[in-house]
Amino acid sequence: MKIYNTLTRKKEEFYADDKENVQLYSCGPTVYSYAHIGNLRTYIFMDILRRILRYEGYKLKHVMNITDVGHLVSDADEGEDKMVKTAREQQKSPWEIARYYTEAFFQDMEELNIMKPEIIPKATEHISEMIEFVQGLVEKGYGYETRDGVYFDIGKFKGYGKLSRINLDEQIAGARVEVNEEKRHPADFALWKKASKEHIMQWPSPWGAGYPGWHIECSAMGRKYLGDVFDIHTGGVDHIPIHHENEIAQSEALLGKPAVKYWMHGEFLLVDNGKMSKSLGNTYTIYDLKKKGFTPLTFRYFCLNAHYRNKLNFTWEAMKAAQTAYNRLLGGALAHKKAGGGENEVDQEIINTFKNEFEEAITDDLNIPKALGIVWNVIRHETKSSALFDLLVQFDKVLGLDIDKVEEKIEDEREVELDDEIKELIEKRQQARKDKNWKLADEIRDELKDMGITLEDTPKGVRVVWKNIENGFISLFFMCFQGVGGGRPPRF
Ligand code: AMP
Ligand code: ZN
Repeated sequence: MKIYNTLTRKKEEFYADDKENVQLYSCGPTVYSYAHIGNLRTYIFMDILRRILRYEGYKLKHVMNITDVGHLVSDADEGEDKMVKTAREQQKSPWEIARYYTEAFFQDMEELNIMKPEIIPKATEHISEMIEFVQGLVEKGYGYETRDGVYFDIGKFKGYGKLSRINLDEQIAGARVEVNEEKRHPADFALWKKASKEHIMQWPSPWGAGYPGWHIECSAMGRKYLGDVFDIHTGGVDHIPIHHENEIAQSEALLGKPAVKYWMHGEFLLVDNGKMSKSLGNTYTIYDLKKKGFTPLTFRYFCLNAHYRNKLNFTWEAMKAAQTAYNRLLGGALAHKKAGGGENEVDQEIINTFKNEFEEAITDDLNIPKALGIVWNVIRHETKSSALFDLLVQFDKVLGLDIDKVEEKIEDEREVELDDEIKELIEKRQQARKDKNWKLADEIRDELKDMGITLEDTPKGVRVVWKNIENGFISLFFMCFQGVGGGRPPRF
């Protein structure tokens, strides 16, 4: 299997020392607010990687941390601790804030079918490991103490900048006006911050009471659970120049060798082609999507249509299109499921070809858009067959789109309230048919079809069939057109 390694800027063959124990570390959320859909795109990427590795037969030890202390308002150690700031604003304790948003994050994960990593350590429960790490760096001459903390001396670490390919001069040019005169280099970063008496989150250390720097957290927790050297480290692209550069510096300085073999980064989600920001009011959450009638899995499907190394632009129109496509996909899968086996069986050779194509795509640096193309080919295959449904269910182990749960629930014929707009369209079509204006009649039929509504002409009149897809279940409601009142069908 090939994966793109940010460190070498190349697609490389993934080689694990032990297929039974592939070690994967993912930077987890800072739990000071709800995760926005950009954050969640990165965790969907993490989940896809995880699922592909499992599909390919690897056994995983996957760690994703929870950052509940030490992540300052700026990634480069400036400003207040995000947890403490939110706690003050919401008049709660940082621990309450952390507990609440960690739970909310887990709920988002569950709704998005993001599988839980085996180990989810909290930063606040690993302070002693972090102190030990910092002590090691100080002993080796890479860490130095100032009045406000302990800093990493990047001038001493020869490889600084190798992940982001930024050299130290560029770092200096890019750094803001220096506030901390005691720092040896403007880009030296905090390993440990000393805290004033009033600071809520603090622990004793050899350098006085304080709290860890954000970067040391991941290095220390990764090392504790995965050992000195591990296979893959993931995060979003924004982590490349600071957070991961600093992780590399700390770990390599302490160990004398690289700690991570493959670095993988997910590209950003944009909103309306721009950055998400609180001031623009576009840092959407899963709750915002649900309020607008979109299921979390529709967002997952939306994300899967872009390669993880490409930017993806979120718009409400694009979400609508994703919803239509996802509903069609489930409907198509159901058609295969309903077909059963026997005479409808397709050649094993065809199935094998689909399977090979799918596996080729997913093992080519997680090419999920291409894999989805194969899924669509299976869906559209002229023979409807339960063997193809089984194949889709197998593919869904990677995709996580709940294809296995698709189910037909046929309700009895019953009256359903129809939206006036839809009623009007149906009436217009009936009139067109009476007028023998087949072109217009067909156009209206197609328009309705796009809305998930099909019309069947029966001797009793027109039968309206509409598909209602909720939580991965498809229901078909049958009813006669005659005698139908106004109103709108449930969302589909
Ligand atoms: P944080 O909770 O701020 O540490 O971020 C959690 C994850 O979301 C990190 O891996 C970030 O790189 C990632 N991230 C932040 N913003 C975006 C975005 N707009 N699109 C994709 N990933 C993002
Ligand atoms: Zn991290």
